[in-house]
Amino acid sequence: MADCPGCRSVPVPYGLTVDHLTAEQTPADVRAFIVVGVEAEPRGFPDQLERCPVCATHFFYEHRIDNDIFQPTDESRWERATPERARAWLAAQDATLERTRKALLAFAAKARRRWAAVLPGLSDEQRAIFDFLASVGSDGATPQAIELRICLPSDATDRLIAALVERKLLRETSPKSYRGSRGLVRFAIDV
Ligand SMILES: [Zn+2]
Repeated sequence: MADCPGCRSVPVPYGLTVDHLTAEQTPADVRAFIVVGVEAEPRGFPDQLERCPVCATHFFYEHRIDNDIFQPTDESRWERATPERARAWLAAQDATLERTRKALLAFAAKARRRWAAVLPGLSDEQRAIFDFLASVGSDGATPQAIELRICLPSDATDRLIAALVERKLLRETSPKSYRGSRGLVRFAIDV
């Protein structure tokens, strides 16, 4: 609603753009919007579906950053959405999540089949790494993420990873230039 105290900062029928580089502030009513859904895979726009807490009008929210040195941008934009468009956006996110979930389950099943003969011989810690990496898919994870999941210190985690790489269970999936950086280098199960 155009006169709603919860969302009147967003002009009808136009959206609202806040340029953060010019120190323009997001209006208080827009800051109070409720987040209904976040884009399942950050591939395009809009990033987020929000809703006015007073009149239940929906808004697509987008945030664009461009570090172009001549024309840098850092903008937030809200645009009104009909309930039909809001529902279609939510359904598309559900479909994306379902595809991702199926792909991850297929990867885990393939990993367990491929290494079925070896798994019973792994230590508890090695098995914890295997199970975690089986759940995250072909992108793998960083040593930092792995050590948090297996509840061990960095040096012990690195030794376990090295042993699994040696046995060819794991492979490095990140560029060689990332080596030595525990927050960037990634390992995945070799399927
Ligand atoms: Zn409203």
